[in-house]
Amino acid sequence: MVIISACLLGENCRYNGGHNYSEKVARFTEGQNYIAVCPEVAGGLPTPRPPAERRGALVQTAAGADVTAAFREGAGAALAAALRQAELYGETVDLAILKARRPSCGVGCIYDGSFTRTPAPGDGVFAELLKKQGISLMTEEDIIE
Ligand code: SF4
Repeated sequence: MVIISACLLGENCRYNGGHNYSEKVARFTEGQNYIAVCPEVAGGLPTPRPPAERRGALVQTAAGADVTAAFREGAGAALAAALRQAELYGETVDLAILKARRPSCGVGCIYDGSFTRTPAPGDGVFAELLKKQGISLMTEEDIIE
């Protein structure tokens, strides 16, 4: 079972109400069992919502609102949903394809908290949790066709 950031498959769950549809990711899912999740929506955040970035352990909006708890709860809920679905199919979750650089889904590189789209080393909150579970991670940019 593969976890996929829902916005990569066209779900309008981005902070601005849009999506990040990726043809490459859509092709990758062909013949795969996958579950599309948006951890921020799973955490109860609305769409649209103010953009947020990680600053160390915290996730904050540009106005300084602390949304860390919602991000963490959503990461846990999205993981739980994926594990439940995998169990139903007698599978395990082995891989996640996540949206690059986002505060929940970024893998190895995220925006640095300055809201200037400046990349810095680090994982998003969801990616961090999945990594701790031993799930392999990649972004849509890592798919080689
Ligand atoms: S939290 Fe992840 S799945 Fe949801 S919109 Fe952001 S990048 Fe996409």
